[in-house]
Amino acid sequence: MIALDHHPSGRHFLQIPGPSPVPDRILRAMSLPTIDHRGPEFAQLGLKVLAGIGQVFQTRGPVAIYPASGTGAWEAALVNTLSPGDAVLMYDGGQFAALWQKLALRLGLKPEFIALPGLDAETGLPNSWRRGVQAELIEQRLRADSAHAIKAVCVVHNETSTGVTSDVPAVRRALDAAAHPALLLVDTISGLASADYRHDEWGIDVSISGSQKGLMLPPGISFNAVSAKALAASKTAALPKAFWAWDEIFEMNRTGYWPTTPNTNLLYGLSEALDLLLDPATGGLEAVFARHRRWGEGVRAAVRAWGLPIQCADPAVYSPVLTGVVTPVGVDADALRKLIHQRFDLSLGTGLGKLKGRMFRIGHLGDCNDLTLMAALAGCEMGLKLAGVKLAASGVQAAMDHFAAHPQQQPLLAAA
Ligand code: PLP
Repeated sequence: MIALDHHPSGRHFLQIPGPSPVPDRILRAMSLPTIDHRGPEFAQLGLKVLAGIGQVFQTRGPVAIYPASGTGAWEAALVNTLSPGDAVLMYDGGQFAALWQKLALRLGLKPEFIALPGLDAETGLPNSWRRGVQAELIEQRLRADSAHAIKAVCVVHNETSTGVTSDVPAVRRALDAAAHPALLLVDTISGLASADYRHDEWGIDVSISGSQKGLMLPPGISFNAVSAKALAASKTAALPKAFWAWDEIFEMNRTGYWPTTPNTNLLYGLSEALDLLLDPATGGLEAVFARHRRWGEGVRAAVRAWGLPIQCADPAVYSPVLTGVVTPVGVDADALRKLIHQRFDLSLGTGLGKLKGRMFRIGHLGDCNDLTLMAALAGCEMGLKLAGVKLAASGVQAAMDHFAAHPQQQPLLAAA
């Protein structure tokens, strides 16, 4: 057993934007004995989680659950719907979009990667990584594709590397305005169950997600929510697929089973997470989204008070899941994170790809509350001061003021 209990007292603060802290209730559910995945009890669990996860994606269509990390579900979405050499339009809004594009290349697809050009005047960081997906760029490109060579448009709903959430319905409108038949594939790996997301209503063909973010589970399961159009495309899609193939999975799922051995204990956890997220007594998904929006506002109040730039430059697309904080030129954000980890046992997200060393990320997803966030902000503020960063004012004070002035709509505890 590796020594994870080295903390002399108290708990580690896992404030990265996923994996997010797992509630004790979910950990306990996952500690139950593993059961026969072909036995009668298993079908009850399978049918329950399949129905519940559909509610979270807000879809009536099928959802494939894979024993894999999010990357597996990215691959599954592509190999089930596309053929070798197909052109796909992808949008470069951050490191995860870049990794998805790399994966598409490795599969033999022809991804075209579009972005806003240039560097941002305030920070010198890529413009496109500070703003959401620009639907008009997608529309322009699709209008120019009169032969309909582009078979899919791929966008990331919540860019975990930047803290920018894109307007997915605007991307749908872009496809419709261009009267283009491409499939719409959306990565909501870090958006689902923290930020509003509606697979059916938004006209998405494949939604991709993972367990370790808003669902408050450990890493290890991922999802494809699939439209009727995507299912039809899968009948003729010629990229090689075996493990990821939807047909056998959906066939077996009808009775609550999987063709291969499912991740039984993570499914116990998923069942518990669904009970927590969908519970009408605590306000259901609407209350979940409102909580995360409010936490995002509180954290951004802190960053503004510090006088540091928020990585997301467009308030219309601030992420309710995480906030990226840009450090002043000359302050290595990774050295700062290391200092904060060593001194305060707080883990913050690193700057990924083009943002390496220039920013850190504060997660406000999954199982949080005002005080865990206040503790994380206190750790950041102490670390920034120790690193010699001149702060305009106390972000901790600003966040306390924000949370105090904006009480949570849903009562935390039942009235006595
Ligand atoms: N897409 C997004 C938006 C992510 O945040 C992540 C992981 O953090 C991934 C894809 C890749 O998922 P995984 O690391 O679970 O394979």
